Amino acid sequence: MTSLRQGDIFAAGAQRLQMTESIELTIQSLQAYGADHAHWGLAWSGGKDSSATLTLIIWLIDTGRIKTPKTLTIFYADTRQELPPLAIAARQIMDELEERGIHVEVVTAPLDKRFMVYILGRGVPPPNNNTLRWCTRQIKIDPMTAALEQRLAELDGNVLMITGVRQGESAIRDKRIEMSCGKDGAECGQGWYQKVLPEAKGLKGRLATLAPLLHWRVCHVWEWLKHWAPQAEFGDWSTAMIADAYGGDEAEEINARTGCTGCPLASEDKALDTILLNPYWAYLAPLKRIKRLWRELREPHHRLRKAGIERLKDGSIAANPQRMGPILLESRLMGLEHILAIQTEINEAAIRLGRPTVDLINAEEEARIRELIALETWPDGWEGDEPTADTPLDKIYSDGAVQPLLFV
Ligand code: SF4
Repeated sequence: MTSLRQGDIFAAGAQRLQMTESIELTIQSLQAYGADHAHWGLAWSGGKDSSATLTLIIWLIDTGRIKTPKTLTIFYADTRQELPPLAIAARQIMDELEERGIHVEVVTAPLDKRFMVYILGRGVPPPNNNTLRWCTRQIKIDPMTAALEQRLAELDGNVLMITGVRQGESAIRDKRIEMSCGKDGAECGQGWYQKVLPEAKGLKGRLATLAPLLHWRVCHVWEWLKHWAPQAEFGDWSTAMIADAYGGDEAEEINARTGCTGCPLASEDKALDTILLNPYWAYLAPLKRIKRLWRELREPHHRLRKAGIERLKDGSIAANPQRMGPILLESRLMGLEHILAIQTEINEAAIRLGRPTVDLINAEEEARIRELIALETWPDGWEGDEPTADTPLDKIYSDGAVQPLLFV
């Protein structure tokens, strides 16, 4: 028993030393690059990496460890798809920032481009890993680019955009920024902010990016969120909820990637599953049905298909004849009712238990989805009169060869 305790103390001591070193490197990177920029921006999604980055930087500024920039703008990327405990923690942190006189700009995609409206209203199939990953750019990058463009128009000079990209120990060796959000439990979108934003039209030449937590290991992120940042001496932040949402002290082993609720690109709902293990959040269990719905809506019987060779606008032939396309109107309606039912079920339980309610689809989004369906809206290149994707058709190859149906 005694030796175990001693071991724990040594382990904690080693952890602390590493944390201090990690923070020291962060300070050095901010001093080295931050000094050249009068204006700083911070891309915050409410996930673990960017929340650690945000709270640490404000603490470093508050305690005089780094020089205060002339302006600091916090951009909160609200995708409307955040896991509820993270969205709640983000709201609390926003209040804590406002108390310090720091304004947070909430960045959300325009109504028609939001995840739910785009899928259920316009009929674009849920993103997948193979052919169609439209989501990160549309709900995270493009709105952030627009917000930054607007901010840049108000400022002289360049802006240093700080992101929560993190690559752990390999970062010191490996200078390449990983775009995958699956690596080391990283946060979806942060790598894109790092790589894509400085090159974006309207921002090019006026934006530099810095990832001051690049070298942090995931255990340091948890340590900061759970044990350091909530203490008064480190800023008294409401970050413990973020760590708790991922399983508290066990979070390090779970190492969940953070992103949207029911992300169709993640093979498992690891973060949500961990949240549901916590009795406080167990009433959110119906959220598990969201990922299943996205899978279902990609099935052929919910979608249209091009019947034959497809000519593109420039007259060329599309590479994939008979490709599957948008979601049928009735399937979109089914999807909408499904999400609304999940929302009602959770919120009834929340009210009964005195827990926070969720906001998966708000009244404005629901009205717009119903309107787009009623208007029979189809994505570009589709008319709605194409056959459903489960209709047996002669097989057409990209060279125009036809193999007639063997069985009718
Ligand atoms: S978390 Fe998933 S659904 Fe959300 S933007 Fe990233 S890849 Fe797309």
